[in-house]
Amino acid sequence: MDKFDKREPVRDRYESPLSKRQPAQAYSSSLSDENKQLKATIKTLVDSARYNQHTQERFYALELYFLEADSYELLIRRILSDLKHQLKLTQVELFLLDPQQETQQLITEIYGQLRYKNLFYTDSLSAIKALYSGDIQLILSNAQENIAKLGPGMSQSVALLPLRRGNRIIGSLHLGSRDYERFHPGLGGEFLLHLGTIISVCIESSINQERYKHLSLVDLLTRAKNRRFFFQALGTEIARSRRSKKPLSCLFIDIDHFKGVNDKHGHLTGDRALCCVADTIAPLLRQSDVLARFGGEEFTVLLPDCDLKQAEEIAERIRDKISQVIIVNDINQHFQVTVSIGVSYWQQNQQIFGDNQTVQNDLINQADKGVYQAKRNGRNCVHVFKGE
Ligand code: GH3
Ligand code: MG
Ligand code: MG
Repeated sequence: MDKFDKREPVRDRYESPLSKRQPAQAYSSSLSDENKQLKATIKTLVDSARYNQHTQERFYALELYFLEADSYELLIRRILSDLKHQLKLTQVELFLLDPQQETQQLITEIYGQLRYKNLFYTDSLSAIKALYSGDIQLILSNAQENIAKLGPGMSQSVALLPLRRGNRIIGSLHLGSRDYERFHPGLGGEFLLHLGTIISVCIESSINQERYKHLSLVDLLTRAKNRRFFFQALGTEIARSRRSKKPLSCLFIDIDHFKGVNDKHGHLTGDRALCCVADTIAPLLRQSDVLARFGGEEFTVLLPDCDLKQAEEIAERIRDKISQVIIVNDINQHFQVTVSIGVSYWQQNQQIFGDNQTVQNDLINQADKGVYQAKRNGRNCVHVFKGE
């Protein structure tokens, strides 16, 4: 890339021998000098063309590598880590514009807290504008004021590359090199600009993909996972439990007399009560547990690596917490709801035998039977299924 931009056009160097009148001998020796010069120029040109082709191939391979990343998590990892190694950089930093912290919230819901040292989110365009001191355009520089825009490191020259989708700025990618000559204002930045475009497309499309994936697995009212996600997680956890020989428990939670809540306070208040129940359960669980809205006013909780005694304790804590929550209806009247909880449990070579599908069905059916027993026992209680 460097050589490409520094090369001199042929015509600038070439002077026609015919334009000068010289004696025959002098003429032939000057012709041979010209010839040598021309050959040298051609060699330089061929070398720089080869170098450019090689650089272009490297960039294309890198771009393809980013395009193939099939998740946000993988893409960010490739940008921050692999780009650094592939381009032999000392620093790579990525700033993403995230106005309502929507991306951060989405990614946290999917992956938990994803922490990368060099990934920064900013909620205002002015923070990115400030980095570019005016027009947001590619900066290639070895000036100290621009190097200082990257975090502490060994960089001697930097590239600040705006990330754009159409006319919108979506972020900024910062590359630092230990080589003082690597990035400087005289360098054309075609390869970097192309790379920036590809990275912008990849980032935007991976966020959209994550959004769609998430939407298809989440209950839009309560933001708990949906039934589809629950069954996927159940299959995964049963397989994991078989391998690890660790127990797996399941809770089935049914709101008591919920029809009465709707009848008395209206469906919108009923919806709010469903959200309150989900919001009360979620903080009582571990990151690896799964809370899902199974249907209507029924929730399920999957508790990996959790034995029957622990599962019963968690169920009791959930029941107790929900019974204390105050819900407000549309005319500011307060009311409360209670839940009945069934608990089921599985450990390899115990309780339930059979293939994964059988284990799955039994875990749910038994937790469901637990709920019916809890209802028969007077509601607002927990019942552990221990056989019929
Ligand atoms: P039980 O204690 O025996 O479980 O009684 P219940 O009234 O809770 O049970 P039932 O199955 O008779 O009623 C469930 C009610 O849940 C009926 C239905 O209108 C309500 N429901 C289901 N989904 C929603 C929803 O998304 N929003 C609201 N507001 N209500 C819902
Ligand atoms: Mg029900
Ligand atoms: Mg109910």
